[in-house]
Amino acid sequence: MSVQVLAAKMAEVELKDVPSKELTPESPLTPKADDKGMVENEPKATSATTPTMEPMVKTGDTSPGFLTPNTKMPQASAMKRTDPQQNGGEAFVNRDGTVAEAPRLKKIQFADQKQEFNKRPTKIGRRSLSRSISQSSTDSYGSAASYTDSSDDETSPRDKQQKNSKGNGDFCIKNIKQADFGRREIEIAEQEMPALMALRKRAQGEKPLAGAKVVGCTHITAQTAVLMETLTALGAQCRWAACNIYSTQNEVAAALAEGGFSVFAWKGESEDDFWWCIDRCVNLEGWQPNMILDDGGDLTHWIYKKYPNMFKKIKGIVEESVTGVHRLYQLSKAGKLCVPAMNVNDSVTKQKFDNLYCCRESILDGLKRTTDVMFGGKQVMVCGYGEVGKGCCAALKAMGSIVYVTEIDPICALQACMDGFRLVKLNEVIRQVDIVITCTGNKNVVVREYLDRMKNGCIVCNMGHSNTEIDVASLRTPELTWERVRSQVDHVIWPDGKRIVLLAEGRLLNLSCSTVPTFVLSITATTQALALIELYNAPEGRYKQDVYLLPKKMDEYVASLHLPTFDAHLTELSDEQAKYLGLNKNGPFKPNYYRY
Ligand code: NAD
Repeated sequence: MSVQVLAAKMAEVELKDVPSKELTPESPLTPKADDKGMVENEPKATSATTPTMEPMVKTGDTSPGFLTPNTKMPQASAMKRTDPQQNGGEAFVNRDGTVAEAPRLKKIQFADQKQEFNKRPTKIGRRSLSRSISQSSTDSYGSAASYTDSSDDETSPRDKQQKNSKGNGDFCIKNIKQADFGRREIEIAEQEMPALMALRKRAQGEKPLAGAKVVGCTHITAQTAVLMETLTALGAQCRWAACNIYSTQNEVAAALAEGGFSVFAWKGESEDDFWWCIDRCVNLEGWQPNMILDDGGDLTHWIYKKYPNMFKKIKGIVEESVTGVHRLYQLSKAGKLCVPAMNVNDSVTKQKFDNLYCCRESILDGLKRTTDVMFGGKQVMVCGYGEVGKGCCAALKAMGSIVYVTEIDPICALQACMDGFRLVKLNEVIRQVDIVITCTGNKNVVVREYLDRMKNGCIVCNMGHSNTEIDVASLRTPELTWERVRSQVDHVIWPDGKRIVLLAEGRLLNLSCSTVPTFVLSITATTQALALIELYNAPEGRYKQDVYLLPKKMDEYVASLHLPTFDAHLTELSDEQAKYLGLNKNGPFKPNYYRY
C-alpha cells in the first residue's frame, strides 16, 4: 500500500462542554497531496479563545491518491425511520406530581405498535447489566423501502438453524430466503452513496483495512450494508449487530448473511436478544475485534463490561451518535477510556446534512405522510431558528406557507428576520396558526397553556430534541380525550369539541414518520469509513486514550467525494490567490472556528 505521511498537528478544539481533540491527519490514508481537501499551511486562529491550528507540513507523495474522488452517481432511494412506540399508559402523572386517571383513550391497534421487551422466554435469560439498552436502541429508525416479511413464522431466529448457499451458518437473522430482496435494496442504496463506491474503486489496488477486524453495532439497513461491503472491499473482516431493536431491515440482513457476513440482528428483537446478538459478535473463539464501530455506545459498553481485556488489541472506537459520543467523553474525563476514539457525530459535514438539509426535506415528508396537509397559505409557527429550524422554515416557505419564528437568541432572530420570516412570541400568534413545529433542543417550549389556546385542527409536532419540547404529559388529563386516528397521529379533544392533531406523541417527527435521504447517510458512512481507516493505520502514539474529531481536511474530503454526483466543478485557487489568502491550494480552506 502506498503511504503518504503528512506531518501535521491539529490543536485541541472545544466541543460543547467537553474536551475534544482533532485528529492529527498523518494517516497513510489521508487524502493525497493532489486530492481536493489537502492542506499545507493552515492559518492560525487569531483569538486566544478560538481554537488554533498549527501549520501542517505536507511531505513527499504527490501521486494520485487512494482517496481521490472521481466517480459520478445517479439518483436513488431513501430509507424510513418509523417509531413504533405508542401510547399505552393507564394513569398519568400531572405536572404537579399527582397521579391522574387515564384520559379517555380511543385506540386503534396498528401493526407497528410497540413490542414488549422480553415477551419471549429466552435461552439465556436476562443478562445482568448495570443499565438497560440505551434510548437510541429503542427509538425506532426503520426502513421505508423495507420488504416486509409478513411471514407468520413466529420462531425466534435464535431457535432456527440457517445456512447460506455456501453452507456458512455464522449468523443469526430472520430468514435467509429474503436475501434476494435485500440485495436489491442494497443496490438501490449504492446509487446514492457515491463516496463509498469511490472508495471501493480505489481499494482495488490498496487495502487500507487489511487485517482489520471490525465489530459493528449500527442500524442494519441497506445503507449500512453498503458501508460494510465497502469496509470488506478495503480489506476488513466484519461482524455486526443492530444498535436498535426495531430498525433492522430483515431482507438486508439476509443479503449480508448470504454474502458471507456474520450478522446477528432482526427486526423486533427483545432486550435479551439485543445483548445476545452483540455478544455473538464479539465472543467468538479465534476471532477478536481490533476496531469498534458503534452507534449509541451499547457495543462499547458491552465490551467494557464483559470483555475488558479485549481493549488490549483494539486500536480504536468510531462512534456516531450524540449519546455514544457523550459516554465516550465521560469515560475520557474519568480517565477510563482505554483506546482512542473518534467522534464522527460532530464533523461539519454530518452536522450540516443531518440538521439542516435532512430536516429541510423530512419536515414536509413527515407532515404529509401523517396528515395529508396542504402547505400553501397555511400559517406555520416554527420555534427555534437554528440549523433544524432554518431547514424547516426554508421548506415551508418554498411551499407557500406563511412562516412565523420564535427565538431567544437575537442573532438567530435577526437571521430569521433577514430571511423574511416574522419573528413573534408564541402567545401572539398561537390562536391563528395551523401548524406548530418545535426545533429548539429545549424543554417545555409548547406547554398546556398554548395547547389550550390553539385553534381547532392545529397540527403540533416536534423536530427537535427527544420528546421534551412539547409538554405532552400535560395533555394526559381526564378532561381530554385522545383518539388515535392513524399510526403516529393522535387527536386530542377538548370538552368543547376542539381538537389538536398531535404527531408522534411529541417525539421527533422525521425519525418517527418520514424517511432520511440515503445521501445524508452516505455522508455519515463515508466519515465512519475514513475514521476507521485513520485510527487503524495511525502509528503508535499518534492518538492517545482520548476522543478526537475528524480534521477539517477529512471533512472537506468527504464533501469532495460527493461532488461528482452533481457534476459539480470546484474552482481551484491560483497560486497568487492561495498566497493572498494564506491557504494551501488543496485546503483546508477554513479554520476550525469557521461557521458554515
Ligand atoms: P441549534 O442550537 O442550532 O438551534 C436551536 C435554536 O433554538 C437556537 O437558535 C436557540 O436559540 C433556539 N431556542 C432555544 N430555546 C428556545 C425557546 N424556548 N424558544 C425559541 N427558540 C429557542 O440546534 P439545531 O441544530 O437546530 O438542533 C435543534 C434540535 O434538533 C436539537 O435538539 C437537535 O438534537 C435536534 N436535531 C433533530 C434532527 C432531526 O432529524 N429531527 C436532526 C438534527 C438535530
